[in-house]
Amino acid sequence: MHINFQMMCEIRSNTSHLDTLETSVHKLDRSTSESLTRIHNRRSRKALSIRMAKALCGLSDLFIQDVKAYKRMHECNGHLWQEGSKFTTYYCRHRACPLCSAMRSAKMIEAYEPQLSKIDDAYFVTLTDVNVKADDLRNEAKRFSQNWSKVRRNIHTHNKRNPHKSYDLRGIRTIECTYNWKEDTYNFHNHIIVSSKETAERIVKLHLKYHPTANESAQDIRKADEGAIRELFKYIAKGMTKDSYSAQIQHNIHSALKGMNQYYPFGISKQVSEDIDELQSEVIELNNREYGVWKFDASASMYGDWIEADGTPLLGEWRTDKKSRKFKRMIKLVDKQINHEQSDEIKRKTSETISDEDLQTLRSNIRFCIDNGIELF
Ligand SMILES: [Zn+2]
Repeated sequence: MHINFQMMCEIRSNTSHLDTLETSVHKLDRSTSESLTRIHNRRSRKALSIRMAKALCGLSDLFIQDVKAYKRMHECNGHLWQEGSKFTTYYCRHRACPLCSAMRSAKMIEAYEPQLSKIDDAYFVTLTDVNVKADDLRNEAKRFSQNWSKVRRNIHTHNKRNPHKSYDLRGIRTIECTYNWKEDTYNFHNHIIVSSKETAERIVKLHLKYHPTANESAQDIRKADEGAIRELFKYIAKGMTKDSYSAQIQHNIHSALKGMNQYYPFGISKQVSEDIDELQSEVIELNNREYGVWKFDASASMYGDWIEADGTPLLGEWRTDKKSRKFKRMIKLVDKQINHEQSDEIKRKTSETISDEDLQTLRSNIRFCIDNGIELF
């Protein structure tokens, strides 16, 4: 279900209504400063998400369902409904949304970290192949998936035939895609955390067998350090580098990988689905209000803030820590693209071909000038 401002107000006027909604409340055993940091980080993601959604909605080759999905992304966390220290909001669940991706990553880490951290000799593997054009990206992702099934089947068959020399095949695989700005190509690849060095090497060997165009030196095996699990689940803004952003590239990647899972556990139990709840609540000690409906304004408090009907901003000034600075840089990149597109639109409008009627007028004016000996230029 989708929730909008009107519904928020309904919920506000009838608290029992909330009991019927599917919500998940994170009962946080965290200090106030930690929950404050979380809401500040959430604002950073919201400020980025709303701008990305705007840029994505502005693309010209969208299907109606894409437009609807990006509009929902625009609304994601658009209102916070406050009931004391409990803040409830709506999540769009789109993969392109920084808010929903962060929520999904946290869910995946919570579900899989206990199992993965029990693996003593874990290795981090990256499997790649040659880059492809946007139109071939979906097929490339399917090819990777089919070949991964072959890799697993091959290892299982080997293990059955050689029970004393079997490979320990436990871990998780994630799908990922990066963009080459120079060549306008996409690199689809897999990251895998796997249970031993021998298994990692066997996987790479089989991957090269099933991907004849893949370059051996482009595959990577390294010991999984403490941060490897978190690295595997982290949010990577598609279509964005340190100094560029393109909504078109972001859209191309997400539409090519639409309907596919991002995380594939193997040899360990599948804990949860990747989906996140549409309505979520969090306990945050922020102010003494009993009730509040906070609406996000992308230009408030400089880069964005939730504002109450009486004009009070929820968080006020932006923080200056490393994470906030990183988001500010990303926000500026997206703003730059939106402004650039708008100026392109103005250019396009101002260079529109002249109408037949205007041409007639112009011709008769020229005729008049010639007839009356008036200099034209
Ligand atoms: Zn979202």
